[in-house]
Amino acid sequence: MSAQPFHFFSKRLLLCLLGVGFLSGLIHLESMRAGESTGPIRALMISGGCCHDYPNQNLILSEGISKRAHVAWTLVRQGGSDRAIQIPLYDDPQWAEGYDVVVHNECFGGVTDAEWLETIVKPHTEGGVPAVFIHCSLHSYRGADTDAWRSLMGARSTSHERARPLKVENLKPHHPIMKHFPPMWDTPNGELYKIEKMWPDAIPLAQAYGQDTQKDHVVAWLNHLGNARVFTTTLGHHNETMQSEIYLDMVSRGLLWAVGKLEVDGSPSSGFEAPLASQLQGRRILAGDYSKKRIAIVDESGHVSWEHPIKDIHDLHVLPNGNILFQTSWTQLLEMRPDGEIVWSYDASTMNGNQGKRVEVHAFQRLANGLTMVAESGPRRIIEVDHHGVIHKEIALKVDHPDPHRDTRMARKLDNGHYLVCHEADHTVREYDRDGKVVWEYVTGGEVYGAARLRNGHTLIGNGSGHNVLEVNSAGEIVWSLSQRELPGIELAWVTTVEELPNGHFMIGNCHAGPQQPQIIEVNRDKKVIWSFLNFDAFGNAMPCSKVF
Ligand SMILES: [Zn+2]
Repeated sequence: MSAQPFHFFSKRLLLCLLGVGFLSGLIHLESMRAGESTGPIRALMISGGCCHDYPNQNLILSEGISKRAHVAWTLVRQGGSDRAIQIPLYDDPQWAEGYDVVVHNECFGGVTDAEWLETIVKPHTEGGVPAVFIHCSLHSYRGADTDAWRSLMGARSTSHERARPLKVENLKPHHPIMKHFPPMWDTPNGELYKIEKMWPDAIPLAQAYGQDTQKDHVVAWLNHLGNARVFTTTLGHHNETMQSEIYLDMVSRGLLWAVGKLEVDGSPSSGFEAPLASQLQGRRILAGDYSKKRIAIVDESGHVSWEHPIKDIHDLHVLPNGNILFQTSWTQLLEMRPDGEIVWSYDASTMNGNQGKRVEVHAFQRLANGLTMVAESGPRRIIEVDHHGVIHKEIALKVDHPDPHRDTRMARKLDNGHYLVCHEADHTVREYDRDGKVVWEYVTGGEVYGAARLRNGHTLIGNGSGHNVLEVNSAGEIVWSLSQRELPGIELAWVTTVEELPNGHFMIGNCHAGPQQPQIIEVNRDKKVIWSFLNFDAFGNAMPCSKVF
């Protein structure tokens, strides 16, 4: 297995994207790992073509599934928005080599080349590679004079009803895929595919009634063809449907079933559960200090188990695989294994159009699908990049007082796909939706550093030079707060990171507070100090970011 669990573009695809073409001699092909007892499941997601928001759907599906099962993604989007492109991915007969499952979310209804279709299904029909088909994949290649593609799914459809929310009926409530699916699901929106034929071996899982056709149409089903196990759903035209928990649960279980890793209770087989973000299990502290020029892991007794020199730092993470994601300067990001091996790096000063610009990175985050979110001050944008630094997502940030050092502080992608961003110079926390629209903001009255969305839906704010912590509801009302001298013997200085712990306590970063004051404080809602950390030997007076794990 590779030391890098997340490999977004194979060399082959990257070369293709760069216009170099396929150089098959360079390709490292790994054999299928059907019998493996631990994840990740290596998944290839293919999207592109007409009529759907594939850039966002790639992220919704890959993040949503990886929060439910241990899946590492290669995301390939080819063909633009044209419906009649024979995408170059399939030019290579070995296109599915090295993957445990392929998710087809493509929309090429205008391609009719029967001979080409018969070759592209072979990795499934002859190679036995499991498949998940989403929505327009069923309408892709529908004019071709061959059943090669549709027999793999086990259904034929060539048209759909008008868009409207659908009532989806669970037909197999005891099947592991459908066990947690409600008896009837009202989808936020939908585009019902008219099923004209089901192959006799296909197993329907769910259906919806068609108002235009006055009959039921199957919307999710299973099929076997050759050695391949196939899950298909025609649901998924609209992003709001796709990002619902019910949809992502069903598709995740469909994928697990296809690879033979779904238990009868609907959970992933042992070893294939989603990796958990590190919980507070012990009291090891990962922290960075730019006065001591060091990032390190220490325990409560001060023993240093890992360290690395840095120049500047405002963000850091312990990843589920134990690696450390951090920055050594305002532009250089590194992912390092505990043994010191660098497994990923990103240079924001030169990548993705930043040459010659003043750019500073004050926040970044590894996402469930393996992409890395980077918030760039200066360019005033959030990007999501893959292992090769290729951008898969970009939104512009709203900044009223532009300053490359002060545009942003802590920024986090939320479970709903939104971004919560602290704008230091604007004294404002803003929430952006997937399209970059500001959907919520709060003026904090300080040079705000940190914000976290709480489980109750409120926002916890570490208010920087405001010397306080605020819990604010969606209406912008302060429902809880901690002022500068409210904790006995403690003075809040520059309040930086804030975090809600699994037990409901808050972990607060207290920077520039001097050698007598704790650098990290754990408090409960009764404002009782549960734990605190002070180590002025390992770290000094400029320790803005830390993680207790
Ligand atoms: Zn559609």
